[in-house]
Amino acid sequence: MTATRFAPSPTGLLHKGHAFSALTASETARALGGRFVLRIEDIDFTRCRPQFEAAIFEDLAWLGLTWETPVLRQSEHIDDYLAALETLRGKGLVYRSFKTRREIALASLSAPHGAGEGPRDARPTAAEEAARLAAGEPFAWRLDLAAAEAAAGPLTFVEAGAGPAGERGAVAVDAGPAGDVVLARKDVGVAYHLAVVVDDARQQITDVVRGADLFEATHVQRLLQALLGLPEPRYHHHRLVVGADGRRLAKRDRAETLRAIRERGVTAEALRRELGF
Ligand code: GLU
Repeated sequence: MTATRFAPSPTGLLHKGHAFSALTASETARALGGRFVLRIEDIDFTRCRPQFEAAIFEDLAWLGLTWETPVLRQSEHIDDYLAALETLRGKGLVYRSFKTRREIALASLSAPHGAGEGPRDARPTAAEEAARLAAGEPFAWRLDLAAAEAAAGPLTFVEAGAGPAGERGAVAVDAGPAGDVVLARKDVGVAYHLAVVVDDARQQITDVVRGADLFEATHVQRLLQALLGLPEPRYHHHRLVVGADGRRLAKRDRAETLRAIRERGVTAEALRRELGF
């Protein structure tokens, strides 16, 4: 059976862009005669808050959406993501990256909306690694992209929507722009990419519907799926809702929230219509 999902991170209140994404995923499930799954991606505990999770349920119910229960909350499944990290470690595909505390602290564990994420970093020698570990230096686990690509061989993913440059059909995987992506941080835990591929497989998601700003992330995720022996979903990247300035709506730019829209008296029906549903 087909299944789509909407997978927000409770790091702020949802805006119209989220409403569009959730409606698109739910409508796609309906059109395919499949399941619609809501997943709470709350592994970055430095940024996620319970009140934002509650607001997600409230906003989506207001929009008229229904989803499967119980809802999977990623913070309750950290061991599974660590097991996936262990698998990659066992294959020699990740390494400890010792950068400055600040550089490591800045390495985001959240979804990278937009191109470019990780730099490459040299794998430390065994002696250097032992010395830095002994000194208690913090580290992040990075994917050794060159080794990962060699292990996986050439890959493609199926784009049933459209990438930012109109990509469609079989897209050749190139995780190069992401670089040696950070998969975990010793202090905070595992990163977005690892949790997403583990959960898309666990929840038997056949069709990943999400914004085109996560197109680059798909390259990394397809690679991780291949390395972990996970099934390959189809991808439907959708257009992004833009504001009056023509830029993608973003929590950090204080885009008007669904709650505020509701409080100004806009009905869910009117909003759905405005978004094309
Ligand atoms: N949790 C991610 C976010 O809110 C999206 C994950 C995804 O759709 O793959 O940015």
